[in-house]
Amino acid sequence: MSEAKLIDGRVAADSLRSQVASEVADLKGRFGVTPGLAVVLVGDDPASQVYVRSKGEQSLAAGMHSVTHRLSADTPQDVLIGLVRSLNADPAIHGILVQMPLPRGLDEKAVVEAIDPDKDVDGLHVVNAGRLSQGLPALAPCTPVGCMILLRQTLGEDLSGLRAVVVGRSILVGRPVAQLLLQADCTVTIAHSRTRDLAAVCREADILVAAVGRPRMIPGDWIRPGATVIDVGINRVPFDDPAKAAEGRTKLVGDVDFRSARQVAGAITPVPNGVGPMTVACLLANTVTAARRIHGL
Ligand code: NDP
Repeated sequence: MSEAKLIDGRVAADSLRSQVASEVADLKGRFGVTPGLAVVLVGDDPASQVYVRSKGEQSLAAGMHSVTHRLSADTPQDVLIGLVRSLNADPAIHGILVQMPLPRGLDEKAVVEAIDPDKDVDGLHVVNAGRLSQGLPALAPCTPVGCMILLRQTLGEDLSGLRAVVVGRSILVGRPVAQLLLQADCTVTIAHSRTRDLAAVCREADILVAAVGRPRMIPGDWIRPGATVIDVGINRVPFDDPAKAAEGRTKLVGDVDFRSARQVAGAITPVPNGVGPMTVACLLANTVTAARRIHGL
């Protein structure tokens, strides 16, 4: 069998960003509405700083209004919630994202619940999770939305009847991607750490989504020949080359063993440059969706 087709998330994310930029231009030109995104960063976690910068830059590049609030790690809960409430009330802001994880001592759940569900562009509020599970219009979490775009670009718009297996049941990825697959009329199995005979469950999948956080956990022989594999995992591991590993150098790998999986799958996302680039592009798209809904457009 020939090698699987590579699903390039960079190309898909570029095209989504261009689409978002033209929708922003249209909203500004026809209705005088500039979609606005507020990102809140608490503390100085280096990875979070990189993500937040990228979100600010990409939203500005798409022509959106963008503000970043940087708070110190010792910010009290009520001050953070006060900021979220003021953003809820700000008519220039249509999307609010509080960068996770929050420093110790802050209650992430309470902070998310303080966000107006109509501005919850990260899709983490229980109201959005509930809407999603009932098949109602919802702001869905960005990475799962990105997975669905990649799947439709690979397999076509109609996914109905396909067997989908999602490995992982987190609120951020596993559960919402399973809900979106169900909405697309797939037959969905959600697997997790207590699943028995995970290999056999994975082998049933026409669509396999891995969102576990364990490097190369899924080998090629768990994959049905010709299946489409979406690898959400981002894991940092030492280089295979012992010399590079000895220098302490690391690289990113997914939850799927890419080398063996590529020999079996029909199509597969690489790590990096698969699902990863879609996440911020989908955040921008969610902000445009939120702006349209808030203004009744
Ligand atoms: P979580 O740790 O919240 O969830 C992991 C899930 O994997 C849990 O449901 C857990 O099951 C399940 N799991 C753990 N071990 C096993 C196992 N041995 N067999 C089967 N299932 C198992 O992680 P996230 O969902 O937040 O993230 C998953 C991965 O995706 C991470 O690598 C993360 O870095 C990456 N990620 C990538 C993003 C991107 O932009 N590309 C965005 C978000 C995340 P149980 O519930 O039973 O404990």
